[in-house]
Amino acid sequence: MALVVQKFGGTSCAGIARLKNVAQKVIKEKKAGHDVVVILSAMAGETDRLINLAYEAAENPDPLEYDALISTGEQVTVTLLSIILNSMGYPARSMLGFQVPILTDGVATKARIMSINVDRIKQELKKGKVVVIAGFQGVDRENNINTLGRGGSDTSAVAVAAALQADWCDIYTDVDGVYTTDPGICPQARRLKKISYDEMLEMARAGAKVLHPRSVELAKKYNVPVYVKSSFTDEGGTLVTKEDEEMEGEVVSGVTYDRDQAKITVVHVPDKPGIAARLFSALADKNIVVDMIIQNASIDNYTDLSFTISRKDVKVAAEVIKVVASDIGASSVQIDENVAKVSIIGVGMISQPGVASRMFTALAKEGINIMMISTSEIKISCVIQSKYTELAVMVLHEAFGLDKKN
Ligand code: ASP
Ligand code: MG
Repeated sequence: MALVVQKFGGTSCAGIARLKNVAQKVIKEKKAGHDVVVILSAMAGETDRLINLAYEAAENPDPLEYDALISTGEQVTVTLLSIILNSMGYPARSMLGFQVPILTDGVATKARIMSINVDRIKQELKKGKVVVIAGFQGVDRENNINTLGRGGSDTSAVAVAAALQADWCDIYTDVDGVYTTDPGICPQARRLKKISYDEMLEMARAGAKVLHPRSVELAKKYNVPVYVKSSFTDEGGTLVTKEDEEMEGEVVSGVTYDRDQAKITVVHVPDKPGIAARLFSALADKNIVVDMIIQNASIDNYTDLSFTISRKDVKVAAEVIKVVASDIGASSVQIDENVAKVSIIGVGMISQPGVASRMFTALAKEGINIMMISTSEIKISCVIQSKYTELAVMVLHEAFGLDKKN
């Protein structure tokens, strides 16, 4: 007998018929003799609807009220699924974040989970019940409801699986696994049977939408095997797990893209200690996540500094940066929202020379200009003009032979 955590995304929960389909997946595990904890998202579109309402109500909604509002979508799905399971003869109990409790750090709209008290979950499991927990939410020390950021119910699921030391965590979604790239852009994309935590993490951070990045960090930290599966077919699936030799054999495992990018350049900045610290502390104070950073070689003790952020943060970032820029004596601030990031990812590139040059050559052949480059051990990212996103993904997928392997 195993302890299984199953998470179902918004599309899987959209409407009673689909929730009944979810119930069938739960019952299948119960019949196999397992204990089951379920984490649900809100119905597809519901969180967006609630967010729109909040912004209709006020230009700058109070963050705590906003979180209390947008977390309600999950209350609907967990209670409905429990009603369905109970009516089918499978006792179930729903729990909201505060009822577990899932303790969060108090940062409204992008909270992190600090700890999870599993006593109540275990008590209910002992009674033979299915426990159905609302994803995306937690409660802080002051008893405020916090949400974990869009897509955060994946993180709820893996965190609960880790806290319970579950045998595995199934993430049911509307695709049947993790692909070498987005099949919507590149029809040659293939499903991966297995992918390492590190690669998955880089893919999620680089823009692949399939898993919330924080969920992969937790899975790696606590070594939780995660299966990405489709709610609508029993075929396929991708296991996210520890790296093995087979994975190291591939130079590149995937190509990702992220259109949610904006580039800010602070022009003619004095090249002296403390300048970067000032700029980036100002952004950090506003909770703005900076992705890539490049600083040019200095000429006459002045340099240009460029960085990328999410487009949604441009307004706030621009305000903050303009103030700091004039304080430090920079000459101007340029903002470019027509950029995108394409990345290649693979653990195999650690031991392979020439991977970066292959990437740049493939882009150059198509006349795609590279505006920024960043690398990690297992990832190379380039910022390009956003109109070339699809083309770049296609040529990189081909350049690294991703359409051919099986
Ligand atoms: N319902 C939340 C969202 O739409 C959380 C999730 O689905 O993971 O972002
Ligand atoms: Mg999701």
